[in-house]
Amino acid sequence: MAENKKDIRALTKDQLRAFFQSQGDKAFRGNQVYEWLWQKAAHSFDDMTNLSKETRQMLEDHFVINHIKVDAMQRSSDGTVKNAVKLHDGLIVESVLIPTATRSTACVSSQVGCSLDCRFCATARLKRMRNLNPDEIYDQVVAIDNESRLYFNRPLSNIVFMGMGEPLMNYKNVIKAIDKITSDEGLGMSPKRITVSTSGVPKMIKKMADDEVKFNLAVSLHSAIDEVRTQIMPFNETFPLADLREALEYWYAKTKRKISYEYVVWKGINDQQKDIDAFVKFCKYVPCKVNIIEYNPIDDGEFQQASNEALENYITNLEQNRIVVNVRRSRGKDIDAACGQLANKS
Ligand code: SAH
Repeated sequence: MAENKKDIRALTKDQLRAFFQSQGDKAFRGNQVYEWLWQKAAHSFDDMTNLSKETRQMLEDHFVINHIKVDAMQRSSDGTVKNAVKLHDGLIVESVLIPTATRSTACVSSQVGCSLDCRFCATARLKRMRNLNPDEIYDQVVAIDNESRLYFNRPLSNIVFMGMGEPLMNYKNVIKAIDKITSDEGLGMSPKRITVSTSGVPKMIKKMADDEVKFNLAVSLHSAIDEVRTQIMPFNETFPLADLREALEYWYAKTKRKISYEYVVWKGINDQQKDIDAFVKFCKYVPCKVNIIEYNPIDDGEFQQASNEALENYITNLEQNRIVVNVRRSRGKDIDAACGQLANKS
């Protein structure tokens, strides 16, 4: 029986309205249920208190709400919160709440595991198991919004798609989730506060530009030299820097919005002057800003954070070329919640 029940959140509002009509009820009930499902993020039909008991039972007979469950929550000494989130089929993903003095940022997952193979990332070691559905992405945001209100007395202010997975390899569902997050019928957040981070899938970056998306784009670059990038991000062989550059130029021409480059500097990999020169050159193709991310070790020490001197060298060279650069300190390292550490250790 349960197997035949449909996930009610796969229905559009119009489909829900039509469903109620087909049951001899008013289409308007569809609007009420839709509001419960999204804006009020109800976990069960019993929560829908303005519906009669019979209506709730009827919904129960036809549908399920595949709500995520926060299975385990860990709090870091720096305030960062990590949720291990259980999906309806038992798989687990992780999401993180990163608080600063003024902001609460949610870092959410888009896939279970990841199909890419970045050699410095813990998530890459889990192969991709499946894409997340729009409601599973939405639920992660709602869970973190609740935690932000509970622990920091304020709603969520920003969302970054920098958790597990490659968002542009699950584009359709990520877009549907963002539509709900930004809609007044969902969380009503501004798309300006949302950043989608990609390893750089040129075709999809162009598609995003064509779709006139309103959120921000971040690209995990890590090297502007093909041989080096392919060594640490092997899919660069398939999507080389020239294609990435072309896609980013296309994005900027269409959206007029700056791109953020995420960049980690590793000892002996990309810490030389030639690496810096290539990066500075790449930064000039399209208006951008740079986030230098601290490396979060994931294993045996094959990758190591570069020296402060190398970092300073990067910063000086970028600034001399009038490129805005931020250095991002890791958050939540003690609970394996930092970038690249999400791997369901438990
Ligand atoms: N697949 C997307 C989003 C997930 S990764 C992407 O590649 O952008 C989020 C960010 O963490 C990326 O910039 C990624 O390169 C970075 N990252 C991965 N492993 C890391 C590690 N061990 N230390 C620091 N940053 C890491």
